[in-house]
Amino acid sequence: MAQSPNSEVLESEMKDTKPPIFWGDPARTGAASDFRSDVVTTPSLAMLAAIANATLHDDVYCEDETTSTFERDMASLCGRESAAFVISGTMANQLAVRSLLDQPPYAVLADAHAHIVHWEAGGVAHLSGAMVQSIRPLNGRYLTVLDAIKHAVITDDVHKAPTRVISIENTTSGTVIPLTELQRLKKWATKNRVAVHMDGARLWEAVAASGNTVKEFAQCCDVLTLDFSKNLGAPMGAMVVGTASLIRRLKRIRKSIGGGMRQAGVLAAAAQQAVLENFPNGQVDTKGILKSSHKLAKRVELMWTEKGGKLLRAVETNMVWLDFGGSGVDTKKWNEAGKRHRIKLDGKRIVLHHQICEEAILRLGAVMDEFLMATAKMPKSTKDERKSLLLARL
Ligand SMILES: *Cc1c(COP(=O)(O)O)cnc(C)c1O
Repeated sequence: MAQSPNSEVLESEMKDTKPPIFWGDPARTGAASDFRSDVVTTPSLAMLAAIANATLHDDVYCEDETTSTFERDMASLCGRESAAFVISGTMANQLAVRSLLDQPPYAVLADAHAHIVHWEAGGVAHLSGAMVQSIRPLNGRYLTVLDAIKHAVITDDVHKAPTRVISIENTTSGTVIPLTELQRLKKWATKNRVAVHMDGARLWEAVAASGNTVKEFAQCCDVLTLDFSKNLGAPMGAMVVGTASLIRRLKRIRKSIGGGMRQAGVLAAAAQQAVLENFPNGQVDTKGILKSSHKLAKRVELMWTEKGGKLLRAVETNMVWLDFGGSGVDTKKWNEAGKRHRIKLDGKRIVLHHQICEEAILRLGAVMDEFLMATAKMPKSTKDERKSLLLARL
């Protein structure tokens, strides 16, 4: 039988280990030149240290102090009773929606572009058995009370699936839903006995951009999900925040899909550190780290428009939506050009995060030049031809 090394041997081995090289080094991981999403952010060395200090007790037994302290802190930050730490933003959303629902038939009303509709592998259908009423917001940007009034099913008409949840996203594709709009929506929903779920995967961005507090936004829904692994930089982890009874129910559903975690403090500690590093004050962005990525986004927007490019949305936070159709850019060629210039691109959506380096911004400018300079030089007839070619392909 192999002998297990005693602790002295282990300690001396640890001493010989070279310092971890990827932690806190976005240049080495490649995050510094990755515009595809803010999920690529590299966790800091302080997060690694926080992991080393985690309490390592069992969270399914509710005995892990690191995890439960973090849950309590997040609930209190949001001015809510309770919170549950989960693996990912997707799991947070799915559990949040499921916990709000009871007995089918029922429906969830959401923006047709919503993450829960397009990017969660159809979870609402198979985990909640809910019909999704996906709609295009009247203002073309985000869901408001007017959309709810127009589309929510609150009648007793037996033909219809009753809307039990309205799911909103803040930010929505980088656009902040103003607090007053959310308050109006919540008031209407409460009156009509419809629950509100807020997908706050990027709520931190909305807080940084608007100056409103986390708590103010958190009051506009029945259940809120927060993500720590985007611009905050945690390796993974998300939180669901709501009433004590909802979170109790949610934890049982979480267990049923294998989301109960044993030494969960390992993940919770890093996520907690991520909040601390970026939002030490908790309620508002006092450090300006997220704000700095918004400034970068503004810079990228200007680079694009000054070269004659068009946009699909105004830049409010850390996303820039390029209008490829209007600028005659081919997505595949665009991504390939990114590769040649050693930056990672994913089509028309440019996502900024605080770890993006100056060099990457300059390279992005060079990629833009390749396309926009070519279009600018092109005679008008060629542009029209290209447009009709595009139309023909539809
Ligand atoms: C990223 C994101 C999520 C969660 O995604 P995970 O990859 O599961 O963390 C949820 N909603 C929105 C709007 C997002 O952008």
